[in-house]
Parts: sequence; structure tokens; C-alpha cells
Amino acid sequence: MSTEHVFQFSYLAAAALFIFSLKWMSAPATARRGVLAGEIGMLLAIVGTLLRHDVVSYQGIFIAFLIGSAVGVPLAYLMPMTAVPQRTALSHAFGALAAALIGTAEYYQHQPHGFVMGAIVFETLLGFLTFTGSLMAFGKLQEIVPTRPIVYRNQNVLNLALFGAAVAAGVMLIMHPERTWLFPIFALFALIFGVLLILPIGGADMPTVIALLNSYAGLAAAAMGFVLDNKLLIIAGTLDGSSGFILSIIMCRAMNRSFTNVLFGAFGQVQKAAAHAEQRPVRSITPEDAASILDMARLVIIVPGYGMAVAQAQHKLRELYDLLTKRGIDVRFAIHPVAGRMPGHMNVLLAEADIPYDKLYEMDYINSDFAQADVALVVGANDVTNPAARNDPKSPIYGMPILNVDKAHTVMVIKRSMSPGFAGIDNELYYMDKTMMLFGDARAVLGNVVKELGATVKV
Ligand code: NDP
Repeated sequence: MSTEHVFQFSYLAAAALFIFSLKWMSAPATARRGVLAGEIGMLLAIVGTLLRHDVVSYQGIFIAFLIGSAVGVPLAYLMPMTAVPQRTALSHAFGALAAALIGTAEYYQHQPHGFVMGAIVFETLLGFLTFTGSLMAFGKLQEIVPTRPIVYRNQNVLNLALFGAAVAAGVMLIMHPERTWLFPIFALFALIFGVLLILPIGGADMPTVIALLNSYAGLAAAAMGFVLDNKLLIIAGTLDGSSGFILSIIMCRAMNRSFTNVLFGAFGQVQKAAAHAEQRPVRSITPEDAASILDMARLVIIVPGYGMAVAQAQHKLRELYDLLTKRGIDVRFAIHPVAGRMPGHMNVLLAEADIPYDKLYEMDYINSDFAQADVALVVGANDVTNPAARNDPKSPIYGMPILNVDKAHTVMVIKRSMSPGFAGIDNELYYMDKTMMLFGDARAVLGNVVKELGATVKV
């Protein structure tokens, strides 16, 4: 087999593996296989690329590989799960920068005409704006940049004008590729636009924006595939671009928000002050009380949320699951599509604690079961259980699909205080007669409930 054959075969296999990877990652039971398929696909893609005749310097690639690994490996090991959104933002930033720099190099080396020049303009425009946009998203999530939306007069008009100027410069470059002086101006417009695009968006909306930036980075990579005549880049970039776009649509739907609302509406800011104003009585219980109520239940539905991730309470939840199922109690987990701070957040954490996949139920499948549940145990979830989304047309989350926790016979809520969640609004659920609050850090509270349950032997 010639090198050319190996190269062609590795690209074909990589493309197939990328497609299977996406398919498998769409269900918890096959997600690990999906990740593995993606990794093998990427390895084949790299090996295939290294075999190409147009590789200039293996030495340079090796040095870049060492530097990349020195940064990437510790990042993956040391980064906490709660920081995944900002890490993803960084990956998009550097992926997009790579696409933009390759486009720039191709332009200055060849100054191509027609279709290829169009692809270079598309690639570099998206690449540069995604680079600075993703860095801003990272900054907001890491709270290096103020997380509040930064809004000023005529912002949208100015942003649109800047984007228009970048597009106009790009079109001019397509028509006159020899005007090299225009390229830095075009790139600068795109870089500034990336920053301004993110400024008016609140830190809380960043995960949705990151999904959108993911889509831009993918499309930039696909355009790069046309520039370099690399079919695998076209396939992988298109898969990335479309899946990022679909994900952002799913996230917007699950929050009952529109794209324009996410991109131009300052969500989660205005209401926060109002949320603290209310001082209504709630019923608080001890872990001992909770243990005896759970002990008598037949069906318990557990609703995990962002607080479970913060507390890293998934392993304690697994212990509770084991104790309850040993007593013959039916335990199910209700997963809201935007519980936590990134898509699949709860699935990943519960899988880490080895909770069986068939016990995780998506919202649409479990919502009708709450009416039969003896206990709905809410662990650090808030907005995704708020009945205001159903009942209060004035609420900012009105219309967002929620888990029907309030329909269960008894509701137990584990959280540290009466502080609001992501949307910054109060939750009627906490004031209902059937609701009992278990105040404290989710891991500590669950630990105590497990201890109490373990101490009681069922007869
Ligand atoms: P929320 O953010 O609504 O609420 C989390 C709750 O967890 C808080 O009320 C907090 O209360 C509690 N909490 C925090 N730390 C702890 C702890 N250590 N122990 C116990 N409780 C704790 O979370 P949900 O998961 O219900 O909802 C997710 C929200 O995020 C939705 O509004 C969604 O739209 C939004 N979102 C989700 C995205 C996604 O992809 N998943 C992306 C973008 C936004 P207290 O401080 O009192 O403890």
C-alpha cells in the first residue's frame, strides 16, 4: 500500500468515525464509545495529515505538539467540572485563531482569486471574530471581565456598522486580492467586532453563546478545508458547525428564549435585586427527618441541578440511590436539558458516579411520573423546577419548560440558602405546604441523610 493509499484510508476512516462519534454521543449509554470514536478519528486524521507530501517541517510540528501537550494535558486534569464552559471557550478561541492564521498565511502566500479567495475571506472573518469573541466569553465566565452586560447607546447600530465594514472590506479583497494593505484592516474589524459582540451579553448567557461560537469555529474550519483542498476538514468543520448551531437552538428552546434575546437581551441581571426582597416563611427539616420520609417512600424522583455540580455531590447521591434501591424503593433521576451550566452537565456527573443510565429520564419522559412520586428530592436545582415558568406570565422564565416537581406528594429541596438560581428570581416551590427545605451544602446534607438512613435498619 502506498503512502497515498494510507493517507486516503485514514481520512475516510476518520470522517466515518466523526459521524459515528456524534451519533453515539447523543445517548448516555453510548456516549463513552462516542468519545473514543472521536479520539481515534482525530488520531487517524493527524496521522493522515502527517503523511501528506506538502508537510514542510516535521521538526516544527513536533515542537508545537510538545508545547500543545504541555498546556493541554494539565488543563484537562486540573480543571474542575464546573469550569468546563470556560475551557470550551478557550478551545474555540484557539481553534478559530488557527483557522484565521492559516487563512492569512494562504492569502499572503498565494493571493488566490475567485472561489478560494471567497473561502479565505469567510474563514478569516469568522476565525478572527470567534477568536476575540471566545476570549471575551472565557473572560466573562472566569469573571476576569465584568460579567454584567455592558450596554451603551446605539450599540446594535454600531456593531452592525462594524460588521458591515468588515464584510465590505472582505468583498473588496475578493474582487482585488492584490490590495494586500486592506487585509490587516479587514482582520482588525473582525477582531474588534468579536469583542463588541460579546460585551452586551451577560456572563450567565455565555454557555449558549459558546455553543454558537463553536458553530462559527466549525464553519471557519470547513472554509479552511476549501482553501487547503482538504476534504476531511470540510467534513469535520461542517459537522462541528452544524452540531454547535443545533445545540444552541436546543438550549434556547429549553430556556424558552430566542437567539435575539440571548444575543441582545440582558437576562439574569435586572431581577436579582428583587429576588432578595421577599422574606416569607419556609418549612425547614433536618437530615434525620428527611431520612425517615425517604424510608417510607415507594417512588422517589431525584432532580439534580447546578448546586449538585458546585458541591460535587454526585457520589453521595449514588450512595443514597444504593441505600434506597436496596430497600425496594423505585428511584429515578429527572434530567432537565439545561440543568447545570452546560448541556449534558448532569448526565456527565451522574455517569461519573456510576448511576445506571436507565435511571436517568429526560424531562418529557418523566414529567407525568411526578404525580405518582412520594418524594421529589431537589438537589441544588432551582430555575428548572420553578412553577412561575408555568403560572406567571410576568416572570422572565415564563414559558420555559420545567420539571413538574410541584406535582409530587412531598418535595424536599437541598440548597444552602434562599438565594435565587441563574435567572435571579424567587421560586414559589419553596413556599408550598408540601415543600421542606434541607439547608446546607448538597454533599454535606446528602452525607448526613445517607448516615441517618444507613443507621435505620428496615424491618
Ligand atoms: P440554578 O442556577 O437555577 O440553581 C442552582 C441552585 O443551586 C441555586 O439556587 C443555589 O442555591 C444552589 N446551590 C449552589 N451551590 C450549592 C451547594 N454547594 N449545595 C447546595 N446547593 C447549592 O440551577 P438549575 O440547574 O436549576 O438551572 C440551570 C439554570 O442555568 C437555568 O436557568 C438554565 O436556563 C441556565 N443555563 C443552563 C445552561 C446549560 O446548558 N445547562 C446554559 C446556560 C444557562 P444556594 O445558593 O442557596 O445554595
